[in-house]
This record gives sequence, C-alpha cells and structure tokens, in this order.
Amino acid sequence: MSGGGIDWGALGDETIELLRRYLMIDTTNPPGNEIAGARFLAEVLAAHDIPSETAESAPGRANLVARLAGDGSLGGIVLHHHIDVVYADRRYWSVDPFGGVVKDGYLYGRGSLDMKSTGILQLAAVLALKRARVPLKRDLIFLATADEEAGSAFGARFVAEQHRPWLAGAEYALSELAAIEHNPGYRAPLGLIVISEKTGLPIKLTARGEPGHGSMPWPDTAPHRLVRALDRLLAAERPPRVLPEVQEYFRRVAEVLPLREGVGYDDLERSLRDAGFRARFLADRYRAATVRTTFAVNMLRASETINVIPPEAVADVDCRMLAGDDPQEILAWVRGVIADDRIEVTTVREPKLANMSPPDTELYKALADALRARAPGAVVAPGIMVAFTDNWVFRTLGMHGYGWSPFVLDDDEFRRIHGNDERVSLDNVRAGARAYTEMLLAVAAA
Ligand SMILES: [Zn+2]
Repeated sequence: MSGGGIDWGALGDETIELLRRYLMIDTTNPPGNEIAGARFLAEVLAAHDIPSETAESAPGRANLVARLAGDGSLGGIVLHHHIDVVYADRRYWSVDPFGGVVKDGYLYGRGSLDMKSTGILQLAAVLALKRARVPLKRDLIFLATADEEAGSAFGARFVAEQHRPWLAGAEYALSELAAIEHNPGYRAPLGLIVISEKTGLPIKLTARGEPGHGSMPWPDTAPHRLVRALDRLLAAERPPRVLPEVQEYFRRVAEVLPLREGVGYDDLERSLRDAGFRARFLADRYRAATVRTTFAVNMLRASETINVIPPEAVADVDCRMLAGDDPQEILAWVRGVIADDRIEVTTVREPKLANMSPPDTELYKALADALRARAPGAVVAPGIMVAFTDNWVFRTLGMHGYGWSPFVLDDDEFRRIHGNDERVSLDNVRAGARAYTEMLLAVAAA
C-alpha cells in the first residue's frame, strides 16, 4: 500500500470544506429534498471528471451513483451514505444546524455524524484515488441515497428495485453506523465493525368479540382479552440465545472494560445460566437485545369512544428477531404464551432474513487493520446493531454489508446523534479522510 502522491494535509482541508458545504444543504426528512444534496455531490464529482447518475424516486427525492472502475479481477465495493438527515429543533441548538459552523475545533451541523460526514470521507477518498490515478482491482461505487431516516422506500429500496445495474458487480457494501469508541473508563479504544442488524417482524394481535354498552361490561370483551393476552406475552421470557458473533463481540468488549466488569463474558451461554449474572446482564437494554428476540407493545387500538365496547381490539408489537430466528416458530411461540385461540396472531410483512455478514472476509480484515492504525491499541469487535440501517438492503442483494467509520468518538459525541448540537471534530475529519483512503488503497488498489 502506498499513498503515492497523495497530499494528506491538502486532502484534510478539502474534506473539511466539502463537509462544511454539504452540511449547509438542508435535507431534513421529511420532506428530504435530497436532490439539493445530490446536485452538490454531482458537481464535485464532475469537477474531477467523474460522471455520476441521479435518479429521482419522487419529486425532490434523489439518489446518486458514481463509479471508479477497477480491472474487474475482484468484486466491487459500494461506498454508501444517506443524504437525508433527521429534524433539528433550532431552539435547542447553540448554532444554526445548517450553518456550517466551525467552533472550538468542531464542525457543527445536522448530519455531521449521521451521516453526511461518512459520505464526504468516501467522496474525498474517491477524489484522491482518481487524482493519484491509482489502478484498482475492485470497482468503487459511490452511492448516495434518500430517505434512510424514514424507512428507505425512496432511497436504498428504490435503488435495489429500480436501479440494480447501479450496483452491478458489487461484493461488499460499506455504510453506517459504527465508530471507534473512546471511553475514559475503558482500558483501550473499542473499534466496532457492524456486521449484523436485528430483523423486524411486526406482529399484530387481533381480539374479536361481542360489542356492547360500556355501562355493562363482562370479562371477555375484545379489549379485556387482548390486555390479558399482552400481559402473558410480556411475562413470558424467551430464552436467551448467544450467536457466535455476539459471543465474539462480548469477548472483545471484556478486553476493554475494567477488569471486574467483563467477568463471565468469555462464555455467555454458560454465564447466563447463573441467575445473578443473568439478572445483571439483562438489566441493560442493549445487552439484553443482543441475546434475545424482543417484543415491544407499541400500538394499541380498540374503541373510538369510551362508552362503547368495541367488536375488535388490536395490538401491534414491534418484534426484533435475532439472526437465524424462524418467523413461523416465533409466531407459534407467541400463540402458545398468549394461550387464547380466539386472538389472531399475524405478521404484517415478510421479514428480511439476510441480516448477518461474516467477520472473516478480506474486507473485514482490512477494516479492522484500518481501525487499529487509526487508534493504536484499539480492540476491534464485530458489532450487532439492534436497530437497522440501509445495510439490510445490500445484504438482501447478496452483498456483505458492514457498518464502518474511522471516527474516534466519545459518549458526548454519540449522544448528539439525532440530538442537539451534533458535531464532528476537525481532527476526526482530517484523520478520517486519510484512514478511509488508506483502507481503500489496501483493499482495492491493484
Ligand atoms: Zn444514519
């Protein structure tokens, strides 16, 4: 690997300026207006003689692709980010969230972490490789999509369904949402590479019964039966299941936690049989969600008015499956624990089952090396996201999808994601542009 002719200082300055300009484009979703962001990206690419193509999934909802061609000897890599950002409530920000403000060594703005910054690191790397005329063995496919923050129908899913040729030849996808965690309580930085996301299995429980007047209720009205069924569902405990990749994550985490805190993490399956360990471990919401299929009762509907006993009561349960779960088995388990065959248990849509990418590919190893180079002494772990990103779309198309970022972030920075005063340090942008480019040189240069 060589940085042959790349001026890292100049690349850092350029990356900061590109990010500043990109953050000044308001792509709050809704409405998104990602076309403004796509136009900006297209202009920057065109100025470097890199053609791009833009496709609108709806008026103003734009997606963009550009490709640096390799010699075709190895599979391509999709460098993905989403153009849209979530709402920023200006009243709670100390600066204009779309002002491109630099203050105290930080660049502020909605999207400065999630995830325009990653997109600009990818862009900077592509520009640097193009200028240095680096011959490639893999195609690099720069992909910017709309609508990630609202379910991706106008973005990654639209691209997958209507513009498959954009992704032709791709073996891998790199997207959000990972980083190197710098925590003063840790013995070393923790570099995460997200390899899996839990899979949503929306479950609907429908109770039906005789309607009547609210003044004369009886025990098994539709709402009463539904409430009791939900109580049984919430009281039932689905047994924990420790995926090998999740075991590996906790083994690595134990290497950075204060010594006593990681006790038992080397063999979770066994440790979870101990009541004390189990209670402590599952008390943490994130940890609990990594070893269990979860059920959140989030939507309840019954009567429109208080004095009418309705003929129907419905609960929508946000179920998130672990990799390898069988949806039919889960539905059967729910029917078993609610033990009321007059309540219908259905799923609203077919789940996407391709949700795990292996942590032993050539790209994974290069990503891990890059994290250790970025933060010397870092322990690298495969990460499991309990929510989901656009990576599931790429996995569904047969690619290995990883969430990856060379940013070193502390708790305070993580908390600002989707929160107030989201910001990224200029050091992170500079070092990140170099780390992203060097990682691509290592894995894609001929
Ligand atoms: Zn995001």
